Amino acid sequence: MTTSTLEPIRDIDRFASEAEEFLSTAVPSRWKEARGTLTSHEMDEVRRQWDFTLWEGGYSGLSIPTEYGGRGLGLAEEIVFHVLAGKAQAPDGFTRVGKSLVTPMLIAVGTEQQRAQYIPSIMNGQEVWCQGFSEPQAGSDLANIQAKARRVDGGYLINGSKTWTSFAQHARRCFVLAQTQPDAGRYRNLSMFLVDMEQPGVSISDIRQISGAVHFAETRFENVFVPDSDRVGDDGDGWKVAMRVLGDERGGIETAARYVEIRSDVDALLEVLGDRPEYASRLRDLDIRTELVHWQLMKVADLESVGDDEALARAGAVLKLMWSELWQDVTRLGVGHAPVVQQKHWSYQYLESRAVTIYGGSSEIQRNILAERVLGLPK
Ligand SMILES: Cc1cc2nc3c(=O)[nH]c(=O)nc-3n(C[C@H](O)[C@H](O)[C@H](O)COP(=O)(O)OP(=O)(O)OC[C@H]3O[C@@H](n4cnc5c(N)ncnc54)[C@H](O)[C@@H]3O)c2cc1C
Repeated sequence: MTTSTLEPIRDIDRFASEAEEFLSTAVPSRWKEARGTLTSHEMDEVRRQWDFTLWEGGYSGLSIPTEYGGRGLGLAEEIVFHVLAGKAQAPDGFTRVGKSLVTPMLIAVGTEQQRAQYIPSIMNGQEVWCQGFSEPQAGSDLANIQAKARRVDGGYLINGSKTWTSFAQHARRCFVLAQTQPDAGRYRNLSMFLVDMEQPGVSISDIRQISGAVHFAETRFENVFVPDSDRVGDDGDGWKVAMRVLGDERGGIETAARYVEIRSDVDALLEVLGDRPEYASRLRDLDIRTELVHWQLMKVADLESVGDDEALARAGAVLKLMWSELWQDVTRLGVGHAPVVQQKHWSYQYLESRAVTIYGGSSEIQRNILAERVLGLPK
């Protein structure tokens, strides 16, 4: 074992007990004890307030450097905190896209002005962000997006439609991938923009998911102005910036929250089916795979702490495949096999879990990445 593995673990024990203490009083009781009775508006209010509570308590942006308002810790602390927050039944805030995607993107390739202007209001929970990548005809084949950003005096005018935009209904800003150089050829024709959603020309229509929840929307941009200062990277560098963002999306922070949910679902199944021999083999398989997700999460955190970006990207793709397919297998067992009184929970989880092998890169795309970049197989 290297020192880099041993050092953080000692610190993490101390961090974990502090975080547990914070969570024991910070999680709102009306969320923990009466979530089922809240209207969706009240739930949104609690979630927005939670972002602010995290900031006040010093638990916002744990892995973001202190000069940008974070705690300057590592991915390992982020993961530990998410696991503990899940166990403490903490709400899920609205600043997830801002913290786990926008902030790392701006730190890596944004300008000093963009960092100073946008990161503080993500950290303190004031501004929600959404991600404008997918379009009706471009999801897995992201390079095929058709939204256009046309050069005008001082900036660009964006026109086009984005779809499956999570948090769009709540978002003050969106980071949008659009074509700026239609003749430059695939991968060199795109640029990334930071778009103010509260301006004329932006329209949002809810999309209801199969589970009944409304987590995303269709977002249209009609002659929406973006100043030059809100382009991330050079004109034509959008593909490189987008690939960076997708790497973060497949990595650890997102998965930590999911791990807790899967662990809790598996524990629930063990409780109701654990003494029935006909389920023993399936339950053992799900239990072991859940712990493997936890180990892979910690491996991702360790790779991040030693700065091995290549290995981190590979481990992230493996992790995304592991947890998303596992959760679908867990909910498949719950539906129809767990007791009837629990079926409302299981049918919701089953329907929600359909989406997880699609977003952030579908399972087929993850397998393509692993085949080509890890195993070196031909395209
Ligand atoms: C819950 C949820 C939230 C989302 N949030 C956002 C968001 O906030 N912002 C955003 O921009 N997007 C978001 N998305 C969109 C998501 O990124 C896309 O759905 C995803 O990239 C797949 O694209 P698609 O839906 O167009 O499917 P398609 O790309 O049309 O794929 C259809 C099927 O074909 C398979 N396929 C496609 N190409 C290949 C290939 N080369 N080899 C093998 N199989 C292939 C896919 O795996 C899939 O099974 C979200 C999606 C979901 C489900």
